Amino acid sequence: MHYQQLAQAYDEIEKISGNLEKIRIFADLLKEATPSEVDCIIALTMGKLHPDWKGEPELGVAEKMAIQVVAAAASIPESSVTDTLRKTGDIGSTAEELLQESAQATLFTEDLTISMVYNTLDNVARISGSGSNKEKIAKLVSILTDAQPIEARYILRTVTGSLRLGLGDMSIIDALSLAYTGDREARSDIENAFNVCSDLRKVARVLAENGINSVKKIHTEVGVPIRMMAAKKLSDATEILEKVGKRALVEYKYDGERIQAHKNGNDITLYSRRQEIITDQYPDVVELMKNHIKAKSCVLEGECVAIDPETGKTRPFQELMRRRRKTDIKKMQEEVPIALYIFDILYLNGKDVTELPMLERRKLMEETVEINDRVNLTTAELTEDPDRLYEIFKDAIGSGYEGVIAKAVHKDSKYQAGARSWLWIKLKASYTEGLADSADLVIVGALYGRGKRTGLYGAILASAYDDMTDTYPTVCKIGTGFTEDMLAEFKERLEEHIVEIKNPKVISDIEADVWFEPVEVIEVLGDEITVSPTHPAGRNRMKVEGGLAIRFPRFTGKWRDDKNPTQATTVDDLIEAFERQRGINQ
Ligand code: ATP
Repeated sequence: MHYQQLAQAYDEIEKISGNLEKIRIFADLLKEATPSEVDCIIALTMGKLHPDWKGEPELGVAEKMAIQVVAAAASIPESSVTDTLRKTGDIGSTAEELLQESAQATLFTEDLTISMVYNTLDNVARISGSGSNKEKIAKLVSILTDAQPIEARYILRTVTGSLRLGLGDMSIIDALSLAYTGDREARSDIENAFNVCSDLRKVARVLAENGINSVKKIHTEVGVPIRMMAAKKLSDATEILEKVGKRALVEYKYDGERIQAHKNGNDITLYSRRQEIITDQYPDVVELMKNHIKAKSCVLEGECVAIDPETGKTRPFQELMRRRRKTDIKKMQEEVPIALYIFDILYLNGKDVTELPMLERRKLMEETVEINDRVNLTTAELTEDPDRLYEIFKDAIGSGYEGVIAKAVHKDSKYQAGARSWLWIKLKASYTEGLADSADLVIVGALYGRGKRTGLYGAILASAYDDMTDTYPTVCKIGTGFTEDMLAEFKERLEEHIVEIKNPKVISDIEADVWFEPVEVIEVLGDEITVSPTHPAGRNRMKVEGGLAIRFPRFTGKWRDDKNPTQATTVDDLIEAFERQRGINQ
């Protein structure tokens, strides 16, 4: 298939606002592609050459390099590219416009195919070492020489991570279902397979090659991360118990880093919440897995927390992150020792156990984990009494934990990979202190500080993630409550993410002084969620007019390095919380 066909489909998809129509166009395109082309199309459309957990190099071409590439391809000075970029606000359209103008100069070009584009980009990503930038630029220029202007538009957007089609993972899954089964009924089977193997490319290829029945056979494997299950939140113990089905296993909520540990004999791999391999960061966890887990093969999930070496008591999340950022792991291992609290088991000795109810899984954990002062199961108690749930919560807070997670124990209380469902409900101190909620937001822009804050950022513009459209609409501007250290850290961390032109995935009515690539995630507390004319999150998706904003937002000081931006609070989460809040206030 020619890349031009994909570029034209992108162009059509971009112009249409209706999600169903976008899905249909994309499905029609998939129908015409061979299985290996489908594989490449999915990768290019998701803007990821490989799943994160494979640890393969990704593109991430910075704005500066993209300008150099376009300048070289169009044989014009970089300053002319920058001028056009300021005008169009998008590197893709800039390339299209400038290459169109220089098109007459190109006498002979080769038609680009989808696999040529994919393979070239993959090769570019793999170039490393000294002089690599030059080589990368040369390769990208060579592909642009063969590109039609519309193709250049999408190649540039793909390499800079600014493709904005409005097709999130869930829409891609819908399109796959439509293309290969004729309707959208198979979406849950496709989604399940994705949750289990964390590789939508692979699912798409199996589907295109062998059909939906083969997709249903994709199962849990040791060494392949499973998309993590997440918890909903509520603030009332009675409601929590109603939602989980009367009885709950109430567990302390530890404040550390979630780890999915895969053990195959003595071969241990640890995955983070972002599905990155973090085995080298935690040699102590590797040792615990080798010596205190009585299974030939298994997949366990637990929270890794920093502990005080003298008392064995848990220490705050920030301590653990301090350790994570240091390269001298050996030294840090002594300075910040850890303990691992296991809360789930997904695979045991050749069998997928995610379908078993919670208490059966808990029993398997008890049989598998050899408890000592560094590895244990989470503190947990079964109850159906709201007063008791509240007492456990208070004990947890009193002992320095974040709160509790109440887990369903009924016959369908399976491990629901990739889902944030009512099977797990968290109750944290902030919810009961009258603070509506905490949200994990993506920093997208900043306003310069004045007076004492000159030279620093005075306010931060933060967004939620919209997984329907794969965009980052703003939800608040945070300008108060910063300590000097926080301001310094903003400056230090954000500097490297500055872009001249706002990434098109960032949706904002507010003009920031500086824009950032949507990369850094922070925890923000707010008083309530309100309807706002200024913030676009959820606009046109609710009965009320306007978007949603977080009122009186303040930064808690917690950088969510364990989350990638697509794991931030979603627009759907905010809409749900807003509806709930309205229900309570009415
Ligand atoms: P939060 O910001 O509240 O930690 P989150 O968005 O990071 O939420 P959720 O999935 O909503 O994550 O909440 C569950 C998180 O709590 C898990 O990802 C895990 O890291 C942590 N956790 C701590 N203790 C437990 C426990 N006993 N059972 C499950 N998860 C736990």
